[in-house]
Amino acid sequence: MHAETIAIGTELTTGAKLDTNSQWLSLELAALGIPVRYHTTVADDLAANIDVFRIAAERADLVIITGGLGPTLDDLTREALAEMAGVPLVLDADSLATIQAMFARRGREMPARNQIQAMFPQGAEVVPNARGTAPGIALSVPRAGQSPAWLVALPGVPSEMKAMFADWVRPRLMDLGAGGEVIQGKRIQCFGLGESAFEELLGEITARGRDPEVGITVHQATITLRIVTSAPSDAACRQKIAETEKLIHERLGHYVFGQEDDELQHAVSRLLIETGSTLATVEAGTGGLLSSWLTSASIEDSWESAASSPYLGGLVLPSGTIRERLLPNTSGLGHSPDLARKMAEEARHQLGATWGLAITEIASLASDEPPLAHVALASETTSRLVTLNLLGDPTIGKARLAKTALNLLRLALLNAG
Ligand code: AMP
Ligand code: MG
Repeated sequence: MHAETIAIGTELTTGAKLDTNSQWLSLELAALGIPVRYHTTVADDLAANIDVFRIAAERADLVIITGGLGPTLDDLTREALAEMAGVPLVLDADSLATIQAMFARRGREMPARNQIQAMFPQGAEVVPNARGTAPGIALSVPRAGQSPAWLVALPGVPSEMKAMFADWVRPRLMDLGAGGEVIQGKRIQCFGLGESAFEELLGEITARGRDPEVGITVHQATITLRIVTSAPSDAACRQKIAETEKLIHERLGHYVFGQEDDELQHAVSRLLIETGSTLATVEAGTGGLLSSWLTSASIEDSWESAASSPYLGGLVLPSGTIRERLLPNTSGLGHSPDLARKMAEEARHQLGATWGLAITEIASLASDEPPLAHVALASETTSRLVTLNLLGDPTIGKARLAKTALNLLRLALLNAG
């Protein structure tokens, strides 16, 4: 069995919004062992909808459609499904009662227009929607010489779509035996080298055709390794992934800082808590990135915990002039490693933190010299320094600089722990 997703909405085809439903659905279908061959995105246009439904029903066994189930005139999914299947729309009394009750609970009269949401192509099944007014539609479409295609239309609102997939579609697919094999993946997050250097360290682990397969992608200097495998069960997948993960850790050591959605600031926050230490920052070349990342990493778990966060705070400096006014002790040091060291010391002292982390302005010593920034880390007993050459893609320079600072601290914390 293989699948196609169809995302409906003019807001998607015009580029005003990104189709995230297809991404989510593809990951879910892969977890069930159903590969997705096509993502189709189509505008709110009846003829275009009928066209893509027809094409999809011919080339995919399972078609998951999202969007266009609302009560307004631009919501055309039910009409297009009925037309492509050559059946009339008929009223489903149970659905109408459910929709009316939903409005009654909210203390409102049901607008006449919402009745359309209780109309279904003849022969279709109703997919219940506990969170909104629009039920989904499941329809089997006969195909010459093949088993019927199964089309399932869900609302575009991601929270409703996800709940309906999980509660109704997924169990059905599992009953059907889905794809047989389960596909699972895991992401390993690394920092400190370029993509090709990582590839070299990993050696045969990244070979095409290996099982599990390991792919490398890079985003703003963070390297992500994606481990993907398939097996008859979840447990068998996890076992295979764990073995490959162990190999990766052996080869990469401290270059690995986390997994799945982890960023460097999460790794740093965890290590600060584990070692019972605190952090203060001062940054000039990064426009507050360090401060922003560290603040959000410490408040992600709960708002109350912000007060007890190991990140005490930081100073964001748009220019050298402002720095000299706020931190007079840093004046007269030029654009030098000593400046970075002094800034880190000042941050630590002023906030009474265990660690002070500083990033200088980005500057070139001469017009033909590359732009540089100095990063310094200070504690009572340690002082570390990195000078970063920022030649290269300017759009990722600041992120690379802030990440270099976080990584300097992470490595020191690993030593301290
Ligand atoms: P609809 O069911 O077409 O009325 O869509 C309702 C809302 O869900 C839209 O306004 C979008 O904000 C959102 N939405 C629809 N389709 C998608 C999609 N493919 N990905 C993400 N959001 C979507
Ligand atoms: Mg829409």
